[in-house]
Amino acid sequence: MGKNEFAVVLMEKISAARHCVALTGAGVSTLSGIRDFRGKNGLYNDGSLDAEKIFDINYFYEDPSFYYKAAASFIYNLDEKKPSIVHTVLAKLEAGGLLKSLTTQNIDLLHQKGGSRRVIEIHGSPSIHYCLRCAGVRVSFEEAAAKVKAGELPRCPQCNRVLKPAITFFGESLPVDALREATAEAQKADLMLVLGTSLTVQPAASLPEYTLRNGGEIIIVNNMPTPLDRRALLHFDELGEVFEGLGKIL
Ligand SMILES: [Zn+2]
Repeated sequence: MGKNEFAVVLMEKISAARHCVALTGAGVSTLSGIRDFRGKNGLYNDGSLDAEKIFDINYFYEDPSFYYKAAASFIYNLDEKKPSIVHTVLAKLEAGGLLKSLTTQNIDLLHQKGGSRRVIEIHGSPSIHYCLRCAGVRVSFEEAAAKVKAGELPRCPQCNRVLKPAITFFGESLPVDALREATAEAQKADLMLVLGTSLTVQPAASLPEYTLRNGGEIIIVNNMPTPLDRRALLHFDELGEVFEGLGKIL
C-alpha cells in the first residue's frame, strides 16, 4: 500500500470509529527536530551528556543545577520548536470530533502547541514546576524557562528551594491520575492510533493491549517494528508522509 492509499484507509477507519484515541512517542517529535532524549537512540548514547544523571531523581536532590544546565539546551528551548504535521493533524482530528483523546510519552509540550486539548502526559510534563517542600507552589514553564535562559535556577517564591519540573524522573512514580486516565481511554477505544512509539517502554507498551483486549483495533505508524505489529489492523512506516496525506484529506 502506498502512503496516499494508506492515508485514505486510515481516514476511513478514523471516521468509522466510535471512540478513537492516539498514543504518541518520540517519533512524533523527531519530526519537529526534537531529539529522542529519553529513547534508546537519544541522549543516552551521546557521550557529551550524561543523560542517565540528568533525569535521576536522587541526583536531582543532590544537585539540581546539573539538570537545569543540561536541560537548558533541549527542554528550556522548547519555545523555539514548532509542532510537526503529525501534531497539527491530530489537533484537527480532535477539533473535528474524530479523536477523543491523546496519550503521549513525550515531555515537549508540542501537542498542546499544535492545538490538541485533551493531552494525557504519562511521563509527566515540564508545563509545571513545583516546590518539593511547599505544597501548592506552581510555576509555569515560561517562568522557569526565563530563569534558566538567564543562567539562573527557578526557585520557590516561598522558601527559595530550587523547583522541580513535573517531568517524571527515573526513580519516581509515574503520575497516577494521568495513568488512570490513559488506561480508561485505552479500554474505551474501539480504535487506537499508535504513532511514533516502538512500544518498548512501560506503561505505554501495555496501553494498546487494553484496547485489543476489549475488542478494539490498533493501527501502528512507526519507523521501527513494535512487539504488537502482528496484532495491528494496519501498520505503516512513514509517519510524516502518512500525516501529510491525512492532512490533505481532512
Ligand atoms: Zn518552597
